[in-house]
Amino acid sequence: MSDANTATLPVLLSALRLPSIARHWTRHAETADREGWPAARLLATLFELEVADRTARRIQRHHEQSALPAGKTFATFDFDAAPGLSKGRLQALAAGDLWLKNGSNVLAFGPSGTGKSHAAAALGSALIDAGYRVLFTRTTDMVQRLQAARRDLNLESMLDKLDKFDLVILDDFSYVRKDQAETSVLFELIAHRYERHSLLITANQPFSTWDQVFPDPAMCVAAIDRLVHHAVILEMNGESYRKRTAVERAASPLTQEAAVTK
Ligand code: ADP
Ligand code: MG
Repeated sequence: MSDANTATLPVLLSALRLPSIARHWTRHAETADREGWPAARLLATLFELEVADRTARRIQRHHEQSALPAGKTFATFDFDAAPGLSKGRLQALAAGDLWLKNGSNVLAFGPSGTGKSHAAAALGSALIDAGYRVLFTRTTDMVQRLQAARRDLNLESMLDKLDKFDLVILDDFSYVRKDQAETSVLFELIAHRYERHSLLITANQPFSTWDQVFPDPAMCVAAIDRLVHHAVILEMNGESYRKRTAVERAASPLTQEAAVTK
C-alpha cells in the first residue's frame, strides 16, 4: 500500500465515522498483504468488524438508557426460589419477537420480596441484549413525569417519545394512589400503548385494589381491560426472598458467632 493511502485512510475513516476500522485496519491489511487475500475478503472483514462493534455499542447505550437496576439479571436469578415462575416461559418472553411486536403486556403479581422487580429487570436486560429497547421506572416516578408533561402541555409528545421503547416496565404499580393528583395520566399511557407497544407491570396487589390508583371506577375498568386483553400473567407466590435470606443469614453459624462476639 502506498504511503499516500496510509496517510489519508485515518482521515477518511474518521470523516465516515468508522472508528473500529480506523483502529484495526492496519493489522488486517498486513495480514491481507502477507496472505494474498482477495480485496473483497479484506473489505468484508473490516466492515463486519465495524458492524459488530456498532451493534455492541448500541446495546451498551440501550443498557445505559434503560435505568434498569444493576445486577438484576437471569444470571443472578434463582428459579428454584421462585415457585410458580416457569423458567421456560420467561426464556420465551426474553426472546421478544411476537409479543413485543403485537404490543402484548406482562403483568407480574405477588407479595413483597418474591422477586417481581428482579424478574422484570432480568427480562428487560435480556431483551436489550436481543436488540430491543426497554425503560425501567417506578410507576410513581412515571406518573410524576407524565403529570409534569401534561402541565407543560407536552403529554402527547412525551407519550410519543416513549414509543421508542419496545417495553416500558412500570414497577410497583399498586403503590400509585389517586390522591397523587391526576393519575389519569397513567390511563393515558396505557391507552396510548394499547395494541402497539408493550408494558410490563409489577404489583403487590392484583386488580382488586386498583380502584385506589385511578380517579374513577370506569377508568379503572377501562385500564385493566386494555392491560389484560393481550397479556401474560406471572404469579409470584413464593416466600419472600428478602425474608428467606435474612433467616438463612441469622441461622448460619458464622453470623451466630459474630453475633455472640459482638
Ligand atoms: P419484589 O419486587 O417482588 O418485592 P425483589 O425483586 O425486589 O422483590 O426481590 C427482593 C430481593 O431479593 C432483591 O434483592 C432480589 O434481587 C432478590 N431476589 C428475589 N427473588 C430472587 C430469586 N429468585 N433469585 C435471586 N434473587 C432474588
Ligand atoms: Mg419490587
